[in-house]
Amino acid sequence: MIRERLDPAAEVLARAEVLADDLEMRSVRAFKEANPTALVVGHMPIYAPRPLFEALGCLPVAIFGAGDQLDIIRGDSYFQSYICHIPRSTIELGLSGRLESVDAMVFPSICDVIRNLGGMWKLLFPDRLSIYLDLPQNFDSAIGGRFYAGELRRIARELEKKGAKPLQAEALLLAIADENRRRELITELDALRREDPSRVRASEAYTVVRAGAALTARAHADLLDEFVTAAKQRHVRHFDNVRVVLCGSFCEQPPLALIRSLEKAGCDIVDDDFQLGWRMIESAIEVRDGEDPVDALARAYIEQGRPTASRYIADEIKGADLARRVRRLPADGVIFAAASFCDPALLDQPMLEAALRQQNIPFTSFKFAENTGQFQVIREQAGAFSDAVKLWGANV
Ligand code: SF4
Repeated sequence: MIRERLDPAAEVLARAEVLADDLEMRSVRAFKEANPTALVVGHMPIYAPRPLFEALGCLPVAIFGAGDQLDIIRGDSYFQSYICHIPRSTIELGLSGRLESVDAMVFPSICDVIRNLGGMWKLLFPDRLSIYLDLPQNFDSAIGGRFYAGELRRIARELEKKGAKPLQAEALLLAIADENRRRELITELDALRREDPSRVRASEAYTVVRAGAALTARAHADLLDEFVTAAKQRHVRHFDNVRVVLCGSFCEQPPLALIRSLEKAGCDIVDDDFQLGWRMIESAIEVRDGEDPVDALARAYIEQGRPTASRYIADEIKGADLARRVRRLPADGVIFAAASFCDPALLDQPMLEAALRQQNIPFTSFKFAENTGQFQVIREQAGAFSDAVKLWGANV
């Protein structure tokens, strides 16, 4: 009660924490009980076409592994030691029965590890639908857009066969409208963080966005709206921190305590690629007059998708978008925080670093695993980076 009086956002934040930490999938099980014929569609990072699933009457559930909450026993035996952690903990979640309420799993084509995980899932859970989502790497709407719209229709047919509602244009239009509202609220949340990082800490924004993993877009938008409204009423104390962009955590997520450690080390994370799927489409999904909404969904991915490691860029220079982002925000520097053994992030990083060097933008880097428990070294490194940027700026 005292906490709520001191912080108007405390109550909604506490609710978001419960949802974000729901490894036992209580909210998903509650959804299944209330909607016994509806399907639950799990999807791996980074991005999945959630409005399509909602239009089919399914509940989309973003699966981000088990973080630091679960001991991995069986999951480790399915993968070699030199790959990231998220596939191990996802297998552990599956084998321990925590994903029993998930009727279908979607594996987007972001890297070989997710591809292998998709194959393994099929073998381990043959009675459940396992869908590989081939994302286009050609960004001409007439080629990649057409291909992707075909993929979306194929997935809809597979889910329909499993018991989802038939795809109707009206239902998809409503789902797109809900998704656009959620996106608008995330944009508002990000603007608040950017303008005043003391008002909304990155760790709080992370929690409130993560809370939507197993919510419909409408329910998530309501939660975001509540939080944004409450955060605007906060009385805040300002700190002499540096403003940083965090880059590389688009798939496997760092523990929340690690994000808080960076904040304690004097870094205001004013932009990041945590849980990138929610921000992958950078502006509203527009459905043109007479356009099939499936085509509009595909076009949004093609034309409005955010550059990231798993997305081919033809005519752009790797890192140019990151450098522009740093200037636009503005931010003082960049922290590269990639999951250990994350090939897409780590293969991109030298090119991103080169682009920053060219523009005299300071950066530092470290690696993590979702179950990392020791943050002292990272905290000291981030603290030293923050102090150096304050003292010497671009000459770090
Ligand atoms: S963390 Fe990186 S390598 Fe691992 S599954 Fe995700 S994108 Fe692939």
